Amino acid sequence: MNKIRVLIAKPGLDGHDRGALVISQALRDHGMEVIYTGLRQSPLQIVQAAIQEDVDVIGLSSLSGAHRTLFPKVVELLEEKGAGDIPVIGGGVIPSEDISFLIDSGVKKVFTSGASTEALALYIKELIHPGKSTYDPPSKIAHIGIAVQSLDQTLPFYMDTLGLSLEKVEEVTSEEVKVAFLKVGETRIELLEPLASTSPIAKFIENKGEGVHHIAFEIDRIEDRLAKMKAEGIQLINEEPKEGANNSQVAFVHPTSAHGVLVELCEEGK
Ligand code: ZN
Repeated sequence: MNKIRVLIAKPGLDGHDRGALVISQALRDHGMEVIYTGLRQSPLQIVQAAIQEDVDVIGLSSLSGAHRTLFPKVVELLEEKGAGDIPVIGGGVIPSEDISFLIDSGVKKVFTSGASTEALALYIKELIHPGKSTYDPPSKIAHIGIAVQSLDQTLPFYMDTLGLSLEKVEEVTSEEVKVAFLKVGETRIELLEPLASTSPIAKFIENKGEGVHHIAFEIDRIEDRLAKMKAEGIQLINEEPKEGANNSQVAFVHPTSAHGVLVELCEEGK
């Protein structure tokens, strides 16, 4: 396979390119050919360089706040020059509220300053050589897990007060819990009652009291996704999927990597 060719450019007037150099090196470490245009390039210079160098993708970095005008300008000039098929990725110091504006302006993807270079490299590989897609977003929230002392004490609120219907109750012996699923439209509430004081749910209640315990996202290709997360440095509680309720395959992401939330990945049984 030919090496992926990437143009890294810094439009605008800010004079710092440490970030762009770090990104260039990280992409080279991933086997890509990186052309770095240097500082203070105009959108036209960037587009001309991209066409001349026959790159597969353009990465624009901005720290100056000029991304709102300069990024869309690059996209526009590419189309004018008949090179609109070269995807443009943006990064740098970009306020999250500007992301949808940039996407609407034709920028393919925006990485905020908190994103890892690993995530960027994997994204570019997937974009240029699609195939093992691990980038489909979760299709829905599979369920929200709630730790409770007693299902019997809890079910009246969900069933009688809220009027939800109980789908099923089952024991998950490996976790020493009894779980009840209640359907809410496309998603579910999962009530978890500890069956022993050694259960992780018993420990959770002891430390924090009853309450929201985890959020489960419905995804596909759980193994690929776990491998990708691991490569990105995401801390996983389960590096391999394990058997969950309903013949599903599940794995947990550590809350330290998910900003305080215990995240469950859940692939429905086949
Ligand atoms: Zn769960």
